[in-house]
Amino acid sequence: MTDFLQLRSLNTLEVVGDDERYVVKAEGVAPVATCPLCKVGRLHGHGSQEQSFQDTPTHGKPVVVFIQRRRYRCISCNKTLFEPVADLDSKRQATARLVRYIRKESFTKTFAALAREVDLDEKTVRHVFDDFIEEFEAKVRFRTPRILGIDELKIIGQYRAMITNIERKTVFDLRPSRAKADLLPYFRNLRDKDTIEWVAMDMYPVYKQVVRATLPQARIVVDRFHIQRMANDALEKLRKRIRKDLPARQRLKLKDERFLLLKRHARRG
Ligand SMILES: [Zn+2]
Repeated sequence: MTDFLQLRSLNTLEVVGDDERYVVKAEGVAPVATCPLCKVGRLHGHGSQEQSFQDTPTHGKPVVVFIQRRRYRCISCNKTLFEPVADLDSKRQATARLVRYIRKESFTKTFAALAREVDLDEKTVRHVFDDFIEEFEAKVRFRTPRILGIDELKIIGQYRAMITNIERKTVFDLRPSRAKADLLPYFRNLRDKDTIEWVAMDMYPVYKQVVRATLPQARIVVDRFHIQRMANDALEKLRKRIRKDLPARQRLKLKDERFLLLKRHARRG
């Protein structure tokens, strides 16, 4: 039969598929003779155990692989071990490629949908993703910005503080909320926080309080767009108030006065 799994360390023995899933029986291909633990002892067969592992979905269906996994005992160190199978993940009941698949797909699918697709429970999918993020954070270090921006984004019904590097035009971090209780310890413990020279923010008072308390050297600027919006709102209010008191004929004459107000002085008339 064709090799259904296409994995180097496993031989496909049997494939049964129904509407719900594929069930594959397989065996390890690499017989080991020398103990991988003590590196010298000879290994003797010590029975076997049936184990199951989830694999990447095929034809839109989850795949489960059953392996009759050989056990060995080392005649030198006397330890027992399962035959090594390189394509299996060391932490989960899953193939290594399924773990890679979950890591990748977690960015575009919900944990629940992904769990259904691969037939693992949602908690396992979440743990795979958490491990991934942990590895990533240990490897990647964002440099603390010299000019830092605090913005907010509404995600799933809640405002989250987005920390940006204005000089590099990149996102530096995303906080679960914009509450003082979250931001205060965050900025207090921020690595290299002394390198922050400027902080740009909107006029939400918590940001100012937090920056004053934790980054005393940084100078605060309220960003241009927020000031502009406030100025526009004020102008609009004023315009409506003036218009309201005008007689009808004059009001009609000033129909497009909003644009008149937005023109430069020299170009009016
Ligand atoms: Zn050994």
